[in-house]
Amino acid sequence: MLKLGIVGISGRMGHALYDSIVGMDGLKLCCGIDSNVQSLPIGCTVEVAPSVQELKTLPQMFIDFTRPQCSLEVLRFAADHGIAYVLGTTGFDEAGKAEIAACAKKIPLVMASNFSVGVNLLLALVKETSAIMQDADIEIVEAHHRYKVDAPSGTALSLGEAAAAGRGVELKDVMVAGRNGITGERQYGTIGFSSVRGGDIVGDHSVMFCADGELVELKHHASSRATFARGALRAARWLEGRAPGLYGMPQVLGLNG
Ligand code: NAD
Repeated sequence: MLKLGIVGISGRMGHALYDSIVGMDGLKLCCGIDSNVQSLPIGCTVEVAPSVQELKTLPQMFIDFTRPQCSLEVLRFAADHGIAYVLGTTGFDEAGKAEIAACAKKIPLVMASNFSVGVNLLLALVKETSAIMQDADIEIVEAHHRYKVDAPSGTALSLGEAAAAGRGVELKDVMVAGRNGITGERQYGTIGFSSVRGGDIVGDHSVMFCADGELVELKHHASSRATFARGALRAARWLEGRAPGLYGMPQVLGLNG
């Protein structure tokens, strides 16, 4: 039985994880962390602490969907205590990413900006299409609920990285986000990003390859957070007993990414 701790158990993803773990063979929820202890999932009886330092019951693995500052604090603790980690939080800066890589030298860690199987398949298709449609202008459009705090979404950035990799360039050198005002003509070879925020949209991503005379659009629509929760739990099962290291969903799913 793999004993799991949910970091951010009172959040939207925390609730989806809680619902998915209940009744799953081989997985057992043993604790949670959340500074908001007023919005716990209904029926939750495990220990929930407002911070990792106050947690008495330690899990074998944390699954974390919170905010970068919170994740880094729990991750440092996990690395010091040999606790494996599934990390779904998005919006890390370069220093945060470096710290994650350093912690992954001590513990096994799966990190993904999107745990859905369909999005990971989309990443592979985007890389291939980008390599084949060399001259197409690439535009990435994402839409999320009104509460999302980072833009473009972590998934949109991963799609941009896949598109850039297909052409052998770095995303940071070709990325254009948040156009406004007199922008001038589109620069050849750039990858554009647009973000929509509103209502309860769980997560939509579209990658458009706009060529002269034709357009290919690859799309993903998430209709429920359960897809991310199930993917994260699949990653948790896969991670159990692995050597320390930073792993991604392509490895979990056996995709060549
Ligand atoms: P949310 O705001 O509903 O939940 C976050 C939870 O974290 C809240 O309950 C909050 O109280 C808790 N929290 C925040 N800071 C804390 C701290 N310092 N200490 C203790 N608890 C703290 O957000 P959400 O929609 O569940 O998304 C969470 C994160 O997961 C976001 O970064 C989002 O982009 C990401 N996300 C990733 C995927 C994926 O597949 N990788 C899917 C969905 C969401």
